[in-house]
Amino acid sequence: MSIRPILIHPDPRLKTVADPVSDITDELQRLAEDMLVTMYDAPGIGLAAPQVGVLSRLIVLDCARDEGARPKPYAMFNPEVVWASADKNIHEEGCLSIPETFAEVTRPAEVVVRWTDPSGDQKEDRFSGLWATCIQHEIDHLKGVLFIDYLGPLKRQLITRRMQKLKRERARTA
Ligand SMILES: [Zn+2]
Repeated sequence: MSIRPILIHPDPRLKTVADPVSDITDELQRLAEDMLVTMYDAPGIGLAAPQVGVLSRLIVLDCARDEGARPKPYAMFNPEVVWASADKNIHEEGCLSIPETFAEVTRPAEVVVRWTDPSGDQKEDRFSGLWATCIQHEIDHLKGVLFIDYLGPLKRQLITRRMQKLKRERARTA
């Protein structure tokens, strides 16, 4: 298992629609493990394959972050929201590809998600609270959508400019 570099916005790969996974190869299983290690190391609660430069429909997450909580890692291939509640929730979101930036985003409070697990089994479950927000945020990544796309254009431009600057600084010190 190894930690993979996380792409920072703006990057064309973060704006690209990811391809469905038809066959869960050893390579993709390894990728899922690497993504979990990368996510815990960051630290974060979710990560989508495009964020490590792989344009496949795969997300990982673990929102069990209460103190003393046992880790509850998920790796979901081809995840899909099959039902969303009319009730909305507002959460302050962040993203490992947009460091140190947070903003409130409104999304359905509860969702039912269908996915394929790493052993190829079909799963379906209902998620609420932080889990629901996180899953929807990660599935958005597979569509090339970032949480800042829900903000107004001025705010988005400001954040994008700040990220461009951050990337230039990181390139200089690398
Ligand atoms: Zn994100």
